[in-house]
Amino acid sequence: MSRVYNFSPGPAMLPEEILQQARAELLDWQGMGASVMEVSHHSPEFKQMIATIEADFRELHSIPANYKVLFLQGGGRSQFSMVPLNLLRGKTTADYLDIGIWSNMAMTEARRYCAPRLVASSKEQDYTLIPAQSEWQCNPNAAYFHYVDNETINGIEFPDIPEVGAVPLVADMSSNILSRVIDISRFALIYAAAQKNAGPAGITLVIVREDLLGQALPITPMMFDYALHAKAGSLYNTPPTFTWYMVGLMFQWLKRQGGVAAIEKINARKAEKLYRYIDSTDFYHCKIEPSYRSRMNVVFRLFDEKLNDAFLQQARAAGLSGLKGHSLVGGMRASLYNAMPEVGVDALIGFMRDFERQFG
Ligand SMILES: *Cc1c(COP(=O)(O)O)cnc(C)c1O
Repeated sequence: MSRVYNFSPGPAMLPEEILQQARAELLDWQGMGASVMEVSHHSPEFKQMIATIEADFRELHSIPANYKVLFLQGGGRSQFSMVPLNLLRGKTTADYLDIGIWSNMAMTEARRYCAPRLVASSKEQDYTLIPAQSEWQCNPNAAYFHYVDNETINGIEFPDIPEVGAVPLVADMSSNILSRVIDISRFALIYAAAQKNAGPAGITLVIVREDLLGQALPITPMMFDYALHAKAGSLYNTPPTFTWYMVGLMFQWLKRQGGVAAIEKINARKAEKLYRYIDSTDFYHCKIEPSYRSRMNVVFRLFDEKLNDAFLQQARAAGLSGLKGHSLVGGMRASLYNAMPEVGVDALIGFMRDFERQFG
């Protein structure tokens, strides 16, 4: 059996090292004679594990002390509801920026709870760019400003943190959390489903400024109340214990790589290489404006789309999987999260060259 280079957008590849460790500990975790899946989430061992995981996350992203870190369920999509339910705080409107399919879905969900305002959209440009900040129609009285830092499906990423004045800034970082250094203090809340860049599916990471908690709408279900989860240390109900453990192994692995600053450099190099190659050919192309191209999800097409099936088939035979683009966008997508080694990207570029030689 040989492992492939898996370019899947999520659930995404995990470092082999941590899969090996999970396998080694599967029957007997911490001398308990049971796997981590089989022990109580109230046991001292489990509580010690999650304390370490939180500390590692705080260290990796330099999370200030006045922010709570939550490990929740329900994926990125539950956050589309939790954000308005908890952060409206007596207001009836919030600002939403639309730069792709996830942005759009977040705003659609917010309409159940308030009258969200569209600040700007690049939908008419087919989501190939981020509208210039000078064109945004921001509301200084908005409850918060929501945006998606990396649009996983469209392949667009913010080059830097948007400037929205005193309005609380909320970011969906599901597909680029832990991929580069960020100044957490600029944000009111950051959320990220784990299955792209932080582990397997089943956990959502939330970083939220303490003073924003405790003002959820009265209709908020208990499971959707950040304050309740913060008070319970994310143990209000039975958590996905095995996923949590795996996320912990990912954090330790990332620390061994030198942390976020070190992986940021590698991520930049991986994406730069692939885009440079795509731009150099008349066989493949990427329509996203260069300054907004995602380092995590490289969305590209073959000029001759009739070759798509052959491309995917041959790629798979060459040990490169998960390259098919999202059905709403088409074409190809190579997801280059932290766990994708640089040699995997080199292998992909090598394959793309060979394929071009064969059909170009
Ligand atoms: C994957 C993704 C989501 C949705 O995550 P689920 O866990 O499937 O609900 C939301 N936002 C972004 C940016 C994503 O990439």
